[in-house]
Amino acid sequence: MPVSVLSSDYDIPLVLLSFLIAILASYAALDFGIRIFKTEGAARYAWLSGGAFAMGMGIWAMHFIAMLAFHLNSMQVSYDPTIVLLSIAPAILASGLALHIVTRPGASTARFLVGALFIGAGIVSMHYVGMAAMVMEAAIVYDPFLWALSAAIALVTSYVALLLLRDTQRRAGARGGRRRKAGSAFIMAIAISGMHYTGMSAATFKHDHHAMGSDASAIDSSLLAYSIGIGMFVLLVLALIGAFVKDRFESQTAESERKFRSVIESANDAIVIADSAGILISWNRSAERTFGYTEQDALGRQLDLIIPERYRETQRQGMERYLVTGEARAIGRTIELHGLRKDGTEFPLELSMATWEQDGRTFFSMIIRDITERKKAEEKMNRMVYRDPLTGLPNRHLLNDRLAQALDQAGENKMTIAIMFIDLDRFKYINDTLGHAMGDLLLIEAAARIQSCTGKGDTVSRQGGDEFLVLLPNAVNDEVTRKAKQLLQMFAQPFVLNDTEMFVTPSIGISLYPSDGRDIETLIKNADTAMYRVKEQGKNNFQFYTPDMNEAVTKKMKLEIGLRKGLDRREFTVHYQPQLEVGTGRIKGVEALLRWRHPELGNVSPAEFIPLAEETGLIIPIGEWVLYEACRQAKAWQDEGLPPLRMAVNISSRQFQQSNLLGTVSRILQETGLAPQYLELELTESIIQDSKYAIATMGKLKEMGIFLSIDDFGTGYSSLSYLKLFPIDTLKIDQSFTRNILADAKDAALVQTIINMAHNLELKVIAEGVETQEQLHFLTLRNCNEAQGYYFSRPVAADELSALLREASAAQAAAAASLGQG
Ligand code: C2E
Ligand code: MG
Ligand code: MG
Repeated sequence: MPVSVLSSDYDIPLVLLSFLIAILASYAALDFGIRIFKTEGAARYAWLSGGAFAMGMGIWAMHFIAMLAFHLNSMQVSYDPTIVLLSIAPAILASGLALHIVTRPGASTARFLVGALFIGAGIVSMHYVGMAAMVMEAAIVYDPFLWALSAAIALVTSYVALLLLRDTQRRAGARGGRRRKAGSAFIMAIAISGMHYTGMSAATFKHDHHAMGSDASAIDSSLLAYSIGIGMFVLLVLALIGAFVKDRFESQTAESERKFRSVIESANDAIVIADSAGILISWNRSAERTFGYTEQDALGRQLDLIIPERYRETQRQGMERYLVTGEARAIGRTIELHGLRKDGTEFPLELSMATWEQDGRTFFSMIIRDITERKKAEEKMNRMVYRDPLTGLPNRHLLNDRLAQALDQAGENKMTIAIMFIDLDRFKYINDTLGHAMGDLLLIEAAARIQSCTGKGDTVSRQGGDEFLVLLPNAVNDEVTRKAKQLLQMFAQPFVLNDTEMFVTPSIGISLYPSDGRDIETLIKNADTAMYRVKEQGKNNFQFYTPDMNEAVTKKMKLEIGLRKGLDRREFTVHYQPQLEVGTGRIKGVEALLRWRHPELGNVSPAEFIPLAEETGLIIPIGEWVLYEACRQAKAWQDEGLPPLRMAVNISSRQFQQSNLLGTVSRILQETGLAPQYLELELTESIIQDSKYAIATMGKLKEMGIFLSIDDFGTGYSSLSYLKLFPIDTLKIDQSFTRNILADAKDAALVQTIINMAHNLELKVIAEGVETQEQLHFLTLRNCNEAQGYYFSRPVAADELSALLREASAAQAAAAASLGQG
């Protein structure tokens, strides 16, 4: 039987198709391989299976198509389907094993070699099993050298492929990753094809009649090759598209994850995430700063780590309640709590909490802000707004707040509230005679004594001056009496201030809610009334308010009570009355006169309330306010461009005795910007009797450049000798003389004498109370310098006087102009 060697050739398009498949398969293997590197758990096995399948099927399809491209001349070849299918197995198995080995973390060269061995063996066995599937009338004889070479190529190819895979994976993040992958796939495809065609050339086909011939049922090899090729092609492309889409999706997720992280990390607030068991699972840089724990320290620890012990139980319960019932108390709101730092210190924080569910688990996110600084500032603000700076006690604002709160609660719970109005009896005297510094010390000590008599829930406040108000919420009558008695006892001890011993007693008035009033104002007013009654009845005692007290309240009492509040309630205004030069009729100055509008009594005359203000010492703050207001107004007129005027302000003797009068005057001049030569202080003769320092004080005021006048001259019944001692500029003739100059010859003589005497002493004279032209005429003839009275103008409000001044200055300008023309 002659054995002839069969010649063979290749179907070129199929060869190209096989090569294309090789590239695609390599690309898919690389792509999937990289994913295996990146993933863990179940996903890893999914990618591994996919990778093994793609790579195995790809290699197999490449080989099979290449085999189908092979034609034995004059011989029909068909394939045994079972063996063909069988040849797929080693390819997939080998690819899977290789991918698994290589992509495990910490892959070594040795492991790579083993991996390459597997793939190589898989490819070789697939190739030769595939050859064995050929059904034809020929036998295959292999050239051992070429066979070995093909096996070696398979091995080396596999090794190179694995290296490329690893390399590609390492650079996966770098730019141009896809092009690099394509390049690697191309190299791998050449290697795989190289192995195949080397393997094929190792085979020699010899005619063998004993061999089974291809039967009719055998499928046409070209058709088969194209179907497998195209099918495989589509399969691989689909797999790659799927992977690509997933990639895009993942990169978007990764992108948003990156954005999320960068937001969290750059946040100024601590951002902490805990799971439903309270375990910390996220901890940003700000949290590190805020709490002192690094991310490593914190992650995996209980939330308790940053919660002070005493709040932990509440927090745990809150979280449990939320998990069980969904009832959210802290969630979705911003609350203030305390945090615990690593060093054990606590600090106030603001917490905003949110939750979300993911895969059936609940997570809690917490945005935490350290508010230590803000709390400090708030506290400082509170102190400024709600505390009396001298004694540190709550002031009237805080008392009102607390009283309002107490009233709310008392209304609900049918409780009694007591208000104690305390006024120190001899305080004004001490303050005036021993000075403010001493007065302050006394107030501080008095505040401490009052506080020592009160309980925990009580509020002691300073209302201003020497007035204290004590709020006793939930008061029982006996208890209030006991506390009042205790207070009197406390003040029975002398005060020792700077080695000076002194006695100061309190007068205490008490009102009760609800019997004596249901609102803040009434309650305080009635306590005040009761206190006033104590004063009237000899001081140093306490009294409960009774309604008949209110009936018995005299106008004087009402005025005194009202005066205390007048400044705060802005019930005072200043009116201005012009003073004119008698010869020319020019306005030289104005006198500032205080006006008070009482909420119930209406306008009250200064003649009525000034003496009361002096008696109570309230003239001091009120007088200071007038001085400020008048200076401010004088400066405002100057700034308006009106001709500068002298502003005369009345100073009561009580004010004059103030040790800090000079300081007050110069401060007010400085604050208002008024030059001292535009200020005149009107003093009364009584000053002379009351103060031994009067001359010195006046001298200092003169040194400052301020004008001084004696008001109501002639009514003081004092010796005239003071006139030559006092550094004064002007005498103001009292209106009682002016009124009668035409009717009473004696008054006329008096006025004449005063004017002459003043001029002899080089003093200026102003006549007050000029109401008629005749009076003015009389004064003109006697060379009186200036005049003031209803004849020119009543005291009027500032804007009314502004108009008057503008008119006068326009008239003067016109007169000057006509003079110039004439
Ligand atoms: P005073 O300082 O002698 O003021 C002049 C008073 O005479 C003012 O009374 C004024 O309205 C009034 N008067 C002015 N021209 C006429 C007139 O032609 N006829 C009549 N019948 N009266 C005239 P007012 O404003 O009622 O003040 C009374 C007193 O109260 C003042 O007398 C002054 O001693 C005191 N006073 C007013 N304001 C202040 C103030 O701010 N501080 C102090 N310590 N005392 C003030
Ligand atoms: Mg006056
Ligand atoms: Mg007067």
